[in-house]
Amino acid sequence: MTIDTSGTFWTGSDAADLDEYVPAFAAGGYAVERVVHSRCADCGGTRFALRVDDEEGYADRRCVACGRVFHMLDSAEYIDDASPEDCACPCGGEEFELAVGYAMTDVANVDGSVGREVKWVSVGARCVRDGTLGVYADWKIDYGPTDHLFSEA
Ligand SMILES: [Zn+2]
Ligand SMILES: [Zn+2]
Repeated sequence: MTIDTSGTFWTGSDAADLDEYVPAFAAGGYAVERVVHSRCADCGGTRFALRVDDEEGYADRRCVACGRVFHMLDSAEYIDDASPEDCACPCGGEEFELAVGYAMTDVANVDGSVGREVKWVSVGARCVRDGTLGVYADWKIDYGPTDHLFSEA
């Protein structure tokens, strides 16, 4: 696990570098408290083609190994409004390891206690060809509860 910050783009030696990169990127200016790596539910694959609509807050991933398409986070709710585009690394590579960053916020529960809910999500990616790290989409989450989002990376 090594991040090289000497070039124009940060590069990582393996997917674990996203655990450091996504919080460092701090999409939206929010502190990322949790990072969850994407893994294909069908075959366990960890390499994906990624499509996003950063305006709409939408991301889907297609497993390179088995072809399963998964709408990340709450993207399935926005698919009708989204115009997703293929993501490509500056090197031209279109296969990525992915990890979602979650920023949290305090919310007041009806009983007066304070809970924690997801406030912002960001989709981090590491190009498997040259290791370039990037955040390709991020969006606000303005509802609750949000616990289910941790299993929708
Ligand atoms: Zn798969
Ligand atoms: Zn690349």
